[in-house]
Amino acid sequence: MRDLLNLEIVTKTFDDLSHGVGIFHVEDLNDIKSIRYVFMNKIILYEMRKEREEVFGKRIIEVAPEAYEHEGGLQVIETYRKVAAEGGNVNLGLVEYSNHMVAGKYECSVHHIQDNYVYVMLRNVTELEQTKIELEQKNEELSELTYIASHDLKEPVRNISSLIKLLTDENQDKLDEQSITTLSFISESAARMTRLINDLLDYSCIGGGGKELVTVDCKKLVAVIQQDIETILNDTNTTIELGELPKVKGFETELRLLFQNLISNSIKFRKPGVPPKITISAKEKNGWTFTIQDNGIGIPNEQKEKIFSIFQRLHSNSEYEGTGIGLAHCKKIVEMHKGKIWVDSKEGEGSTFYFTIPNL
Ligand code: ADP
Repeated sequence: MRDLLNLEIVTKTFDDLSHGVGIFHVEDLNDIKSIRYVFMNKIILYEMRKEREEVFGKRIIEVAPEAYEHEGGLQVIETYRKVAAEGGNVNLGLVEYSNHMVAGKYECSVHHIQDNYVYVMLRNVTELEQTKIELEQKNEELSELTYIASHDLKEPVRNISSLIKLLTDENQDKLDEQSITTLSFISESAARMTRLINDLLDYSCIGGGGKELVTVDCKKLVAVIQQDIETILNDTNTTIELGELPKVKGFETELRLLFQNLISNSIKFRKPGVPPKITISAKEKNGWTFTIQDNGIGIPNEQKEKIFSIFQRLHSNSEYEGTGIGLAHCKKIVEMHKGKIWVDSKEGEGSTFYFTIPNL
């Protein structure tokens, strides 16, 4: 049986994987210089810029003595020894090599096979990390641009509004009915544009740097929101049923906006003649999953993704007022907590919004 698992089979199994896989033998569990290469797949050989024959069966100290001379290399080699001696797995996360491998960042984990044997899994993520940094920079630039553009748009819109007011006030007796109606349309459009610009400004501010993670008591947070919107809760006969809500690590102002948007929507999109009933609860599973369920008008299946995009609405302003930014805010807030948001709904039977807040 033992003979069956020869190097040829190992090679065929692991050689073409997109991850680097290597097997090591630690001859003396107290000596990091005794570690030998048993097998390295193509990816690792490529990263080392070595041929199979130069590596297999040799000690690391013979093939890549430089590995013992820098922090990244030493950390990994010491982990081979430790895992070979103590068993288990160690996820080293990102390891930076500057020597004996192509310089860059690698995701690396070490796993016990049997006495004195370990295998390593390696992935070069240098480019990925670089792309991530560039993407973050681009996002920041885009946010800044949105902020500046919307900020500068405010001024001319404010001018339009005040000029129309001036025109109307000073020419009350001269304007005919048609002109007054037209001017009032222009004025309403300007007011709506101001609302959109303000929303856009808020949107670009969410997730701006320099904010601190704090412990947020979601139960208290929702209680404060309930107080803030007491009048509307009474006017609409809304009941809110609260389950046990946890304390989470997060950004307080943003989390308040998140709950407030979802609760307000549950009230706004109620079924005519049916008092809104909202249930808010949370379950723990790799972090927290929150649920906000309502008995409102529901959302058609094909629109469930679309509603989280900025300025996307399913109704006209005369049916339900709004600018279509609330859920885009919610998505941005959940994503800045590294969570996800989605909705389950049956048209006419209510909606259930879910979002996750991982343990940060
Ligand atoms: P707004 O409320 O300003 O329209 P949102 O981004 O908050 O913008 O919501 C986008 C759209 O998603 C809404 O116009 C509505 O059609 C739909 N929607 C959001 N929440 C609910 C809900 N609880 N029930 C039914 N439809 C909803």
